[in-house]
Amino acid sequence: MADEERRNDIDALLAEHRTFPPPDEFKRDALVADTDLYDEASSDDEGFWARQASELLDWTTEWTTILEWDLPNAKWFVGGELNVSANCLDRHVDAGLGDKIAIHWEGEPGDTRTITYAELHADVQRFANVLKGLGVAKGDRVNIYLPMIPEAAVAMLACARIGAPHSVVFGGFSSQSLADRIDDAQAKLLVTADGGYRRGDVFALKPAADEAVAKSSTIEHIVVVRRGENDVEMVEGRDHWYHELMAEADAECPPEPMDSEDLLFLLYTSGTTGKPKGIMHSTGGYLTHVTYTHKYVFDFHPDTDVFWCTADVGWVTGHSYIVYGPMANGATQVMYEGVPNHPGNDRFWDIVEKYKVTILYTAPTAIRTFMKWGPEEPAKHDLSSLRLLGTVGEPINPEAWMWYHTHIGGERCPIVDTWWQTETGGIMISPLPGATTTKPGSATFPVPGVSAEVIDDAGRTVERGGGYLTLTRPWPGMTRGIWGDPERFYDTYWSRFEGRYFAGDGARVDDDGYFWVLGRIDDVMNVSGHRISTSEVESALVSHPAVAEAAVVGANDPTSGQAIIAYVTTRGSATVGVEELRAHCADQIGAIAKPKTIYFTPDLPKTRSGKIMRRLLRDVAEGRNLGDTTTLADATVVDELQRRATETPPEE
Ligand code: ATP
Ligand code: MG
Repeated sequence: MADEERRNDIDALLAEHRTFPPPDEFKRDALVADTDLYDEASSDDEGFWARQASELLDWTTEWTTILEWDLPNAKWFVGGELNVSANCLDRHVDAGLGDKIAIHWEGEPGDTRTITYAELHADVQRFANVLKGLGVAKGDRVNIYLPMIPEAAVAMLACARIGAPHSVVFGGFSSQSLADRIDDAQAKLLVTADGGYRRGDVFALKPAADEAVAKSSTIEHIVVVRRGENDVEMVEGRDHWYHELMAEADAECPPEPMDSEDLLFLLYTSGTTGKPKGIMHSTGGYLTHVTYTHKYVFDFHPDTDVFWCTADVGWVTGHSYIVYGPMANGATQVMYEGVPNHPGNDRFWDIVEKYKVTILYTAPTAIRTFMKWGPEEPAKHDLSSLRLLGTVGEPINPEAWMWYHTHIGGERCPIVDTWWQTETGGIMISPLPGATTTKPGSATFPVPGVSAEVIDDAGRTVERGGGYLTLTRPWPGMTRGIWGDPERFYDTYWSRFEGRYFAGDGARVDDDGYFWVLGRIDDVMNVSGHRISTSEVESALVSHPAVAEAAVVGANDPTSGQAIIAYVTTRGSATVGVEELRAHCADQIGAIAKPKTIYFTPDLPKTRSGKIMRRLLRDVAEGRNLGDTTTLADATVVDELQRRATETPPEE
């Protein structure tokens, strides 16, 4: 396409030339080391997904139609019946794997629990009976508001067993956020805990749950898990101790056969762009997608791997890659309750060493924090059990990728940078580690079965360069819509480009056809007529040895349209001057990408799931009142930045 025809696509500035082919050692035992899966899926994607569904899962009734597609509504494996908890538990126990460890749980204070598949199976059946005993029937919604304790998985699987969709709310959310989500879902029962451990202290959950129930109108019973041992008030007749109900519950609860299209759960997005949406996920399609991706993206070997996904179960990553995908594959995994810096900054590496973790899946925000703390922390531990690393949640800056590769992966572990969303249910764009040559910062290619394309404003395919990331074919794990708001579903994802799902993210395609996800399209800056993605400028800043993390926004500017404003956090005690950083950006990606202003800050505003919230930084940079801050992890961070922006003259 001629340059003059291009209007609103994104300039591609960053040139990353390092490549990492799968190591021979890794390839030797890899499930996929060639292009066969890609070839099979591209010749018949529906047939490919059907093969995955029948090979990876047990169905009690066969489906009659693979896909019914009436945009934006997809139905997968129509007519089929299965139960998700039976696929995650019963079939492993029936196959003689009852003694296999399902969860190595580690509490923040250092207490541990080892839970086998047989034990999990027994607890889930008991809790399913508890739910029934409290009046929960198939189709009723159950809210779950728990710390990272095994009971969170038990509660989710028990809901799945009886066909009651769950809505998990991250335990760090306020009572108001919980109340809003309870009301939106019209949930009948709430599962919570007295409290949990965080940064060495017990944080109380039950009082927040009480407040939320007082503010909302549909909860009939609260089940309370004892964890924090903090004092709580129990309302007679409404509130019940988990351990008391479990002691009396019947040990057997047969799994309810569910229709493939029945609602498995509701989950609210993390709220980076605004008001969270209640995303609906189905039974058969969702489980097929997460089981398949867990197996192939993580090259999962059930007999030898110890999997650790560090996400909280309150996010989609915890749903898909702690509970459903790994358990359907019969995985042994680590579940950790607390923060990465308690009691020391090496807690994660201590856990990896202790449980001989082989696959580690974490977020770029965590990796950048580890960079800030320095390579001496992981160096204290033997990380040689690791054989594969993964990331999810945000674009990973190439330098953070290199740090992960060097200091955690010992230069031997492939890295899978996985792009997906709450709405997609499971991983969409990612390397297959035994088959794909990776490039630091690129999620590489759509996984077999998924079709993605970058297009320009007019909907034309961008063969090379930046544009809008779209999905061109329905996939089994795709959301079945926004709870209670079918129009918002169509408007948000399907109306911008005809026939396509628009993810809201920008991406570029390089000369080799690799996808580079550039972050949200709303964050793209317009500087003197150039459309520049914030993530490329951030990556340029992070490539300076003194910088751990950077957030970049475009602020209105009378001369250039928008001016680039950067907020920078340094590594450890490193220091660097503003001019040096500006010159470094010019050097890395060009003069056009030089920030006009750079602020140094000890922290950046992030959502509770750890993502940088550039929307708020734009408000700060343009001197506006802050918009919605309720999904922010720590609101004082933006207050401080606002104070600096008004009190100190910017360093230009
Ligand atoms: P909301 O939709 O409420 O604003 P959110 O988009 O942060 O919140 P999630 O569904 O948790 O909620 O996040 C999905 C988004 O995270 C993607 O759209 C993308 O912007 C970003 N993302 C996830 N993984 C990657 C990745 N590997 N590379 C780049 N970006 C990623
Ligand atoms: Mg989103």
